[in-house]
Amino acid sequence: TPEAQSCLPVVGSDTLVPLVDGRTVTYANLDCAASAPALQAVADRVTQVLPLYASVHRGAGYLSQVSTALYEASRQTIGAFVGARPDDVTVVTRNTTDSLNLLAGCVPADADGTPGRVLVLDVEHHANLLPWQRSTGGATVLHGAETVAETLEAIRAELARAPYALLALTGASNVTGELLPVADVVAIAHEAGTRVAIDGAQLVPHRRFSLAETGVDYISYSGHKTYAPFGSGALVGRRDWLDAGTPYLAGGGAVRQVDLDQVQWTNAPARHEAGSPNVIGAVALAAACETLASLSAGTLEAHEAYLRERLVSGLESIPGVQVVRAWADASDPVGVVTFSVVGHDPGLVAAYLSAEHGIGVRDGRFCAHPLLARLGYASGAVRASVGVGTTQEEVDRLVAALETYVTDGPTARYEIVDACWTV
Ligand code: PMP
Repeated sequence: TPEAQSCLPVVGSDTLVPLVDGRTVTYANLDCAASAPALQAVADRVTQVLPLYASVHRGAGYLSQVSTALYEASRQTIGAFVGARPDDVTVVTRNTTDSLNLLAGCVPADADGTPGRVLVLDVEHHANLLPWQRSTGGATVLHGAETVAETLEAIRAELARAPYALLALTGASNVTGELLPVADVVAIAHEAGTRVAIDGAQLVPHRRFSLAETGVDYISYSGHKTYAPFGSGALVGRRDWLDAGTPYLAGGGAVRQVDLDQVQWTNAPARHEAGSPNVIGAVALAAACETLASLSAGTLEAHEAYLRERLVSGLESIPGVQVVRAWADASDPVGVVTFSVVGHDPGLVAAYLSAEHGIGVRDGRFCAHPLLARLGYASGAVRASVGVGTTQEEVDRLVAALETYVTDGPTARYEIVDACWTV
């Protein structure tokens, strides 16, 4: 089937890696949720643009003007990719963590001057928990809802109980791939006068998303999870908070006028982008957005759904392997699957997959310690995640490798020394 093949070419898909027995195999990158390989189209665009760029925003030279135009056009594409409304602002950031910290400095006080509070769930990645907890108004964490329906009800009840400026919510869980129904969440929050910020780190690379269509107020995402290289990301959303909020970085470019005793900060996005910007990062992310947007509707979703289903049913057919779920009634998750091999150290399982089979997965607690603890995986689990470049062969290789692991066990503890595996 077409879903069994990669649906877009990515860089490095034929990279060979060493195994512990001295052989080499093609790397199976099943860790796309952590960082996805760059699209070939992104690499091509970067190569094309590198010779053209020069200082941005303030240079009078021809190439400075080209650079500025490239940067601003990229900003436009990065916002359009998530359905920015005409009045929305797109701030180019380093990644989702950066975007959420920036927004945390922009949550306004209530009408009576009380610092604005933020509501979050206990399923969040630390990037969507810690910035709110240390913001001026602080955060309330809703704990323990076992279904999507209960979660929505708990949000509704809490927003009715106390005023919140913002509900900050994961778009798709980086542990289970599960999603909440965004339209329902927005309806509940807006009814209570609360804005919604979606942590789109695991949503935007996997699903078409639109601020305009969903009514979501803010979305954050990361270039390195969206098939561009490390170093660029975005915060896109309502202008008023971003124009009035604390400038994220203090420095050149974020100001209108500086006198020694006072500063007039400029509006967003420049207000939050002091210093020379990451032009190539923005160009790369924009190229990724354009390439993903050029896929016909449903292609990406069908590819991932096919691989995810194959992965989950393969894993669940192996004795002792448990797939982690946060919500019993969640439907249609993205291609991120966390599992444990009962009684086995997740670090050893992941090292075995890499050293014996050339498969890259992630183990640990996935920067979501509270969720892992609540679900009974305080000592961690293993996560496999797919992307546009993933093939059925890679998924099948993981399932077969785990079957062998469960039958034969690991040969030893594995370590990489001088770029080779040792046991
Ligand atoms: N939120 C979620 C749901 C994530 O999966 C991640 C990355 N693991 C982040 C936020 C943080 O992204 P970044 O490291 O790119 O800032």
